[in-house]
Amino acid sequence: MTDDKAIATFSAENRRFEPSAAFRERARIKSKADYERLYRESLDNPDGFWKRETSELVFERPWRTVTEGQLPHVKWFVGAELNVTKSCLDRHLPARKDKRAIVWESEPGEVRTLTYGELHAEVVRFAAALRGLGVQKGDRVAIYMGMVPEVVVGMLACARIGAAHSVVFGGFAAESLRDRINDCQAKVVLTQDGAWRRGSVVPLKATVDKAVLSTPSIEKVVVLRRLGDEHAKVEMKAGRDVWWHEVSEAADPAGGAPEVVDAEHPLFILYTSGSTGKPKGVLHTTAGYLAGTHVSTKYVFDLREDDVYWCTADVGWVTGHSYIVYGPLSNGATCLMYEGAPNSPDWGRFWQIIAKHQVSVLYTAPTAIRAFIRAGNEWVTKHDLSSLRLLGTVGEPINPEAWIWYHEVVGQKRCPIVDTWWQTETGAIMMVTLPGAVFAKPGSTGLPFFGVKAEVVTTDGKAVGANEGGLLVRRQSWPSMLRTIWGDDERFVQQYFSEIPGNYFTGDGARCDEDGYFHVVGRIDDVLNVSGHRIGTAEIESALVSHASVAEAAAVGRPDDLKGQALVVFVTLKPGFTAGPELTQKLKAHVGQEIGKFAAPDDIRFAESLPKTRSGKIMRRLLKDIAAGRETAGDVSTLEDLNVLSKLRAVDE
Ligand code: ATP
Ligand code: MG
Repeated sequence: MTDDKAIATFSAENRRFEPSAAFRERARIKSKADYERLYRESLDNPDGFWKRETSELVFERPWRTVTEGQLPHVKWFVGAELNVTKSCLDRHLPARKDKRAIVWESEPGEVRTLTYGELHAEVVRFAAALRGLGVQKGDRVAIYMGMVPEVVVGMLACARIGAAHSVVFGGFAAESLRDRINDCQAKVVLTQDGAWRRGSVVPLKATVDKAVLSTPSIEKVVVLRRLGDEHAKVEMKAGRDVWWHEVSEAADPAGGAPEVVDAEHPLFILYTSGSTGKPKGVLHTTAGYLAGTHVSTKYVFDLREDDVYWCTADVGWVTGHSYIVYGPLSNGATCLMYEGAPNSPDWGRFWQIIAKHQVSVLYTAPTAIRAFIRAGNEWVTKHDLSSLRLLGTVGEPINPEAWIWYHEVVGQKRCPIVDTWWQTETGAIMMVTLPGAVFAKPGSTGLPFFGVKAEVVTTDGKAVGANEGGLLVRRQSWPSMLRTIWGDDERFVQQYFSEIPGNYFTGDGARCDEDGYFHVVGRIDDVLNVSGHRIGTAEIESALVSHASVAEAAAVGRPDDLKGQALVVFVTLKPGFTAGPELTQKLKAHVGQEIGKFAAPDDIRFAESLPKTRSGKIMRRLLKDIAAGRETAGDVSTLEDLNVLSKLRAVDE
């Protein structure tokens, strides 16, 4: 390798999993040839492709030109006019009027369903209520709620009146909420008295009260009564705070007519997870985002009319936006929504929900899968999972061992797994093995989705060969691409387009194998320099997780006088295994065997848990500080549990 920034890859994983004949027969896309034909068409004739594939969506005015401009600033579906809620709601009436849109289960176990007819009525009323509170087209509305059907109502009501929503995950503290509100200058915030989480009350309204002490743009706080006075008594500030049910009931549905907006009108702002630094306010616009989420939901999840589809993400993350709200609803799907924690009251909860509601498609994250593995198979296997037909994963590279477990224990070897690579910035899934069409490989995120031209390049922008690691970039724009970072277009250009000029740089390192399958090897910022080899974190971590004792692992570099960089790994163990010098030796030898002697970690630290973002991603940047014995620099507001850091430091001493 000539490029000193190239990434070496060592993974020997080469198992292939074909979809079953039964799955393939009923799939929307049944063969590799069909995938390739559609893929070629999506690149060669985007106008024709997107016209056909969005033909069931509602446009008040069709587009004149499919794209205009060049990266970094590209417009899609130029001249089109629409309101996304007509595609997500109105178009389903009357045919799906009585079909369940949302099936909601609370943490204590109540079940509520909203049909498309009911969801439509709720959204129209609440849209009218928001207008009544002075929210207008072009305004921003912050949403700080739990996983309740009303959060979907709130988002769609904003879209209905042309206001951009900015959902802030309900686990964030007041300061994080305040900063996000101030960044996007929201006029109104939607919240609820409280939410259940692992049996305790999350006092959402009280947190809003603190945040809005220093958010001059906020005029109104709308409060949903979810728990009631018994569990979450709230203070209502006269003139500022109003009850959701009161404003909604008082509103005249006639005031909830959809605002027709331009294709490029802002739909929402969402802040990224913050795995690598200060979160960025990603702006998505209307038509392109709708097209991207609609088409990807349909094909990636191979949606059928009778599916019960469950995406376990929180609506506070992009996965919740694209694959709980806009994608599934624009397809008329039945979506399951669960309020609480996966281990409440015990680790059987997810599987019990699946059995009870006959969930057929499950979309979750590697962090959850690893937690279930650690908890033990019996929590899964004691429930009847025969309704499942398709599984998905997103958020981090999935270690092949976790993939196999998901396949065997959850999918009972019957269900294809779609490993979906994408980002808050991409709006929709960009890479995936389409189920029914092609085989899957554990740990690989598969082939580019329609309209996606992905490439792996060196730091000077040259394409690398098969199985050579490099920077993952996009050479062209795509419909659901972010349009800018809210209020900071300079940062947008700098962040994504300066590394490889003219290309969108994802921030991830990857390799593409001989079958054209992509493998994400980790964040470029986290790439390790081990004995002269540049290697992605995912390779070391996967090697560790493939050892019987390891539940989860994170690999980071530490400055080292002799070697330049020493390899430090943080490991959490499965129950029944004991940390100590013996296991340390075993794990070092195991990595040596899996990857090569040079990659045997210099230092193995056993930990009870790893620092994660609130969306469950490992925060390696904090571990780097700990490994180097430094104070933690940078933004920690997105860290899920601050105690984890002090515990890790204590181990250090
Ligand atoms: P920030 O950009 O603030 O650091 P973040 O990148 O964690 O936060 P997201 O947009 O939620 O915020 O995450 C996108 C990233 O998650 C991708 O760039 C990639 O690193 C990782 N990722 C997502 N899905 C996959 C997948 N299927 N395989 C491998 N990595 C994935
Ligand atoms: Mg990112």
